[in-house]
Amino acid sequence: MTEVIDGNAVATELREEIADRVETLSAAGVEPGLATVLMSEDAASETYVSMKQRDCEEVGMDGIHVELDPEASAEELYGTIDDLNDDEDVHGILVQLPVPDHVDEREVLRRIRPEKDVDGFHPENVGRLVAGNARFKPCTPHGIQRLLAAHDVETEGADAVVVGRSDIVGKPMANLLIQKAPGGNATVTVCHSRTDDLEARTREADIVIAAAGIPEFIDGSMLKAGATVIDVGINRVESEDGSGTELVGDVAYESAAEVAGAITPVPGGVGPMTRAMLLYNTLKAASLQTGVEIDLP
Ligand code: NAD
Repeated sequence: MTEVIDGNAVATELREEIADRVETLSAAGVEPGLATVLMSEDAASETYVSMKQRDCEEVGMDGIHVELDPEASAEELYGTIDDLNDDEDVHGILVQLPVPDHVDEREVLRRIRPEKDVDGFHPENVGRLVAGNARFKPCTPHGIQRLLAAHDVETEGADAVVVGRSDIVGKPMANLLIQKAPGGNATVTVCHSRTDDLEARTREADIVIAAAGIPEFIDGSMLKAGATVIDVGINRVESEDGSGTELVGDVAYESAAEVAGAITPVPGGVGPMTRAMLLYNTLKAASLQTGVEIDLP
């Protein structure tokens, strides 16, 4: 029987624990605050930001939202970041990516104070992650690591294939899996658009993490029997009955589930964990910045 890895269930439990720690901080006079900055009219970006704000509210955190005109100057965005860096009520800052072409994304990521960089994309935080001394683990790979642990998927000694080498998913995922730490100690192969014979590699893997952004691209024929399959992809496609659009992952679910030992659905797998880990990082940021110690869940 294939085990369905239920991201909603694991995320709900984690959010409850986070809400409990928020109360502890509140009792000590600290209200954890997350600032989101949106400089885009892209519908998906708007939805992501509003979900993040709603998530904050649900666990009792303060959500601060700043919207900038996509035509505004890069300096205006940098100034906004500087103000949020200086604001003691703001513990975490998230600039929703992508930013417009006239803004230098690297400068945006460098500009956020590393202590408030709850996405974990500042070069200092990337360096710390690679060095095995992470301050904030990027939300999606961290969420995946938690999901694997919650379902007792052993990473130590496992052959893991990460499909995708982006800065936000593939690279940090591979880094977490090779760390000499719980949830790590795997032997990791990173595949990407120039990989030759991808199937030969995924077929050898005990754990496959699919983050290529290509709808239903990995099917059962590419998997080893009993493998754990984590589908990161979120792709909007025409629905089969022609009635509109639907979300599908990077994995052809039905076919993969026939072969896999455990698999995440889309939606309801990795997505909710990504959202929960942002709250986790904000909680951690508030604790680190104020010196009020909490027992992180
Ligand atoms: P990206 O476009 O930045 O990176 C895609 C990666 O896939 C690239 O590194 C590329 O080399 C690789 N790739 C492309 N074609 C390939 C091929 N034929 N074979 C092997 N590798 C190939 O994407 P991303 O930001 O890493 O996101 C990947 C997917 O995950 C997207 O669908 C995105 O929407 C989704 N996503 C989901 C969450 C979540 O919380 N569930 C979070 C982030 C991203």
